Amino acid sequence: MLFTPEHETLRRTVERFCRDELNPHVDAWEDAGAFPAHEVFGKLGALGLLGLTKPVTAGGAALDYSYAVVLAEALGSCRCGGVPLAIGVQTDMATPALARIGSAELQQEFLAPAVAGEMVACIGVSEPGAGSDVASISTTARKDGDDYVINGGKLWITNGAQADWMCCLVTTSAGSPHRNKSLVVVPMKTPGVTVARRIRKLGMHCSDTAQIFLDDVRVPQRYRIGEEGMGFTYQMQQFQEERLWGAANSLGSLDNAIADTIEYTRGRRIFGKSVLDQQVVHYTLAELQTEIEALRALVYRATGLFVAGQDVTQLASMAKLKAGRLSREVADKCLQFWGGMGYTWENPVARLYRDGRLGSIGGGADEVMLSIISKLAGTQPKPAP
Ligand SMILES: Cc1cc2nc3c(=O)[nH]c(=O)nc-3n(C[C@H](O)[C@H](O)[C@H](O)COP(=O)(O)OP(=O)(O)OC[C@H]3O[C@@H](n4cnc5c(N)ncnc54)[C@H](O)[C@@H]3O)c2cc1C
Repeated sequence: MLFTPEHETLRRTVERFCRDELNPHVDAWEDAGAFPAHEVFGKLGALGLLGLTKPVTAGGAALDYSYAVVLAEALGSCRCGGVPLAIGVQTDMATPALARIGSAELQQEFLAPAVAGEMVACIGVSEPGAGSDVASISTTARKDGDDYVINGGKLWITNGAQADWMCCLVTTSAGSPHRNKSLVVVPMKTPGVTVARRIRKLGMHCSDTAQIFLDDVRVPQRYRIGEEGMGFTYQMQQFQEERLWGAANSLGSLDNAIADTIEYTRGRRIFGKSVLDQQVVHYTLAELQTEIEALRALVYRATGLFVAGQDVTQLASMAKLKAGRLSREVADKCLQFWGGMGYTWENPVARLYRDGRLGSIGGGADEVMLSIISKLAGTQPKPAP
């Protein structure tokens, strides 16, 4: 049994936090194109919600990953995707490698304040010339005395404009692209780090997404996470948490879209009966609820195996693929049943339609998930000898 009464207590705490601390402000934050990350993370940190799975020495609770999945799923009751995404970056995208293999000193300097909500973190993998093909990044870190000098840039960095530090993937040597990279913590106030611009996007409006330039950025080599040359491997491991988190988070927002649509269509009358009473409407919703439950079962199964110490790269990729596709399907079909109301800007399903579209692109596009799944299934054609 994956979940206990403690998990349910956590779920209720997070849902209450969304209701009281986030949802009343979401519309204003969406209009402003940003939310106050330090303020919100400070409150989450005080509740212990940013360090559920992090080591006790860094202020965390050292719980297993099933608690992170409950947090992600319950954050789906936030009435936008942007704030949960920012929280997920902090807890499960920028910090897993640091928590797993970062030195005690580095954890004290950067992980502990992130767990406390005093520092905002971001993850810097993607670049203008490298997204899906992570191994082809061109940001370099050259050794100079005890330092690295970093040159290059990162694109699409969530939390980038507000972050205090970045977990940054850089190339540290020549050689095989899978063995020449390292993860390095880059404090964002270091000279040479420039937040070039916030990017205007289709959705996730209150999540800041930045382009970052790195020009002769000097950081001590002790800011490297783990071994030199292992960064690509660490990032691939870190993607397991990122993808599970994303899939779990989508569950909550999909449940909400269905519930909102049931409520609206039940009250709206056409041709002498409610919209919900039209068979095509309640049958379609039943189909979608079945798909959501199937996704939930997949996410929970992957989580159970991950907690048991197994590599769940394939299942996490399947969950992310399914979550991205289902978000698009649920948002589109539910929106239709709202009629003109579904086409209005503030409508919650319209927001899911915009925000949820990221699910099939960010953190690895659907095609990248298909490539991983087929590679691990042994069905990809072998390279010519
Ligand atoms: C709102 C937002 C937030 C983001 N946040 C972050 C962040 O915090 N940190 C970070 O590092 N990155 C972040 N990203 C970047 C994100 O992870 C990349 O956009 C994603 O990995 C895809 O890379 P790309 O945009 O360069 O697309 P490309 O790599 O140019 O790919 C374009 C398209 O090619 C297709 N494709 C890809 N691979 C294959 C394949 N093997 N076979 C067939 N077709 C394929 C897919 O349809 C894909 O969408 C964010 C992106 C967005 C939009």
